[in-house]
Amino acid sequence: MKKDNQHISFEFVETIPRQIEENVLYISIEFETATHLCACGCKEKVVTPLAPSGWSLIYNGTTVSLNPSIGNWSLKCQSHYFIKKNKIIWASQWNDEQIKATRKSRNIERDTTIDKTGIQKIKPKEKHQKNNWFVNIIMSLFKRD
Ligand SMILES: [Zn+2]
Repeated sequence: MKKDNQHISFEFVETIPRQIEENVLYISIEFETATHLCACGCKEKVVTPLAPSGWSLIYNGTTVSLNPSIGNWSLKCQSHYFIKKNKIIWASQWNDEQIKATRKSRNIERDTTIDKTGIQKIKPKEKHQKNNWFVNIIMSLFKRD
């Protein structure tokens, strides 16, 4: 069922549950990943790593969006859609050549989108802490010398 503007809600979870519901985006900051069941209704799990080379999660306090689009080329349904502000926006299906070309250009597009709008990827808190800890060690080494 490809309904435009289909609603998808979200849940922040520590770990992604084994049984996941349709039309819910499960977000684990700790594991830097988001998971949902394919929006077409085929019930296939779609895992989107949250990483500079993967997807960016945009959480504005009320809704979530994923950037770039989700292209389930490896699934039978070959669904292609955007998750924008808790809504499924269907995109056209492509042939192999278009998929390759888009994957290339999308990397560039993704970066420029982030720059223009100031959209920030939500970073796991732990990472910051780890980095600080690392910086502290380096600083103390310097002091000793
Ligand atoms: Zn599907």
